[in-house]
Amino acid sequence: MSDISSLGDLTGKRVLVRSDLNVPLDGTTITDDGRIRASVPTIKQLSDAGARVVVTAHLGRPGGSPDPKYSLQPVAARLSELLGRPVAFATDTVGASATETVAALADGEVAVLENVRFNDGETSKDDDVRGSFADQLAQLADAFVSDGFGVVHRKQASVYDVALRLPSAMGGLVAAEVDVLRRLTEHPERPYVVVLGGSKVSDKLGVIDNLIDKADKLLIGGGMVFTFLKAQGHEVGKSLLEDDQLDTCTRYLSEAADRGVEILLPTDVVVDTAFPSGDREPQPSVVPASGIPADALGLDIGPESGEAFAAALRDARTVFWNGPMGVFEVDAFAEGTRAVAQALTEVTSSGGLSVVGGGDSAAAVRKLGFDEAAFGHISTGGGASLEFLEGKELPGIAVLERD
Ligand code: ATP
Repeated sequence: MSDISSLGDLTGKRVLVRSDLNVPLDGTTITDDGRIRASVPTIKQLSDAGARVVVTAHLGRPGGSPDPKYSLQPVAARLSELLGRPVAFATDTVGASATETVAALADGEVAVLENVRFNDGETSKDDDVRGSFADQLAQLADAFVSDGFGVVHRKQASVYDVALRLPSAMGGLVAAEVDVLRRLTEHPERPYVVVLGGSKVSDKLGVIDNLIDKADKLLIGGGMVFTFLKAQGHEVGKSLLEDDQLDTCTRYLSEAADRGVEILLPTDVVVDTAFPSGDREPQPSVVPASGIPADALGLDIGPESGEAFAAALRDARTVFWNGPMGVFEVDAFAEGTRAVAQALTEVTSSGGLSVVGGGDSAAAVRKLGFDEAAFGHISTGGGASLEFLEGKELPGIAVLERD
């Protein structure tokens, strides 16, 4: 694997870094700067090595043309605060402002280019269109460092094509993510428990498919569990249900049984008669998973299940968790997610590897007040980590590892 040292002496070299700075914004206020913080070490490392650091990143989905709502300017300002050094900002990505800003950099200085997705070449499906945009990006630099893990599953100009055009290396953030995900897929220490939740089964089918013969236990909660419960013959009232996935869930249940993989579903569920909304106080009640009333919907795993899930995690040496156990955004339905998060911290403290993957699970951990350091690893890229665990090749990694 080519890390930054493979690029040799960086003094005076222009280094283009693809970071993931896609943070949530409220107007121009950054509401969670986690991704900027995660990007700082590589940028600092390059700057300390005397490189002229040119950061490229996207924000939101502006659709291939400039839209001030998605400007990276506030992000550049926050990056400067976190780095404790000035950060220049180019008002375009590959135009006159970018050229001038990069040309003005002294050794060790940092610039951020405007949102790379303001250019339709970035995400084009046409190799030539993407390629000619990548040519322009490549002209701004002497070397490329890929450090945006959240985008490595995308075949995009600033992730993939530019790496074909410049001496390239993996940044520390991407290298750390890949290292952990390989530990989950190659030789996980056993018992290996996978916890899946979140809203949709269909999003997670690939991971279930791939992990069903790697994991020792699969714990399922969240909105997706109701399709499994229904597949077992239970009525699920008004709970989230994907009818078209019933057969697949039935197949998973029988495959798991054949392979000796234990699938744990909740035995009790916290229900309400309506999905939580601002206008109404939640009225939670706990019912058996086999007895969800017709007018109720399941919004969290129940306390008995929370305990059973925690018990199933107790002796785990490796855990991967993706997707909250309930609608954790509302306190009344957050306890199942809390129980799982707490159990993961205990896996970490007893020397096992606990990995949280997925934007919502990471947000849940923070919202519920857990210390991020209590987990072995919190992945910055939900989609990328799931695709990796599905066994798919990630274009942004493969391009760095080609011979
Ligand atoms: P991301 O896809 O951003 O990486 P993730 O994989 O961690 O996130 P998602 O699949 O997006 O998670 O699902 C998270 C959402 O699922 C949360 O907003 C949560 O409120 C919702 N959710 C959890 N349980 C239920 C439920 N029982 N009914 C409806 N929605 C639920």
